[in-house]
Amino acid sequence: MKLFLLLPILFLFTACATTTPAGFTKDQAALVTAADATTPMRVWKINNRTDSLLLRTAATDVKVTPDDPTLQLFVDRLYATVRDSMSLGVGIAAPQVGILKNIIWVQRFDKEELPFEVYLNPKIVEYSEEKREGMEGCLSIPDRREKCIRSKWIVIEYDTMTGAHNRERVEDFTAVIFQHEIDHLNGILYLDHLAEHGVKP
Ligand SMILES: [Zn+2]
Repeated sequence: MKLFLLLPILFLFTACATTTPAGFTKDQAALVTAADATTPMRVWKINNRTDSLLLRTAATDVKVTPDDPTLQLFVDRLYATVRDSMSLGVGIAAPQVGILKNIIWVQRFDKEELPFEVYLNPKIVEYSEEKREGMEGCLSIPDRREKCIRSKWIVIEYDTMTGAHNRERVEDFTAVIFQHEIDHLNGILYLDHLAEHGVKP
């Protein structure tokens, strides 16, 4: 295609694809802004075909723009969802409410008072060779809990809502939650790590 045709098309695509400073598309922003900060969002489930396809899709990074009201509202609503009495979990990932963005909430069982913390663009940069086996469940997979094999510790890198970039080593159950939630960002579900599959070399 000739360049003079391609450029306007690229411009149009960019203009339509991103509507908020953090990078939420128009459809994503509409879903987020449909209710206030204390209202949980619908949890997408694997037993619904449309939901399942999205849950198996990789998410993309957000631009860290704390002054983007859509980002702040989304982070608040994702928290309201994981704390909702109907779904009550120890972690949640943005794709579980239909938003393909790299954002998770994790309850820190390794910190005093077990706080929930939000992580933007989290990545696992190191996995321990040593494994641990434990029971896992998922808000998106109703009525099931199974034994999974995970690394005992990991090293993560992430951005914070205030624009810092951190690197941190996390162990044990909290490391399992991070592995479970960051998997969601890559379209992976805990079912892919069932203990009965054995430890992969
Ligand atoms: Zn899950």
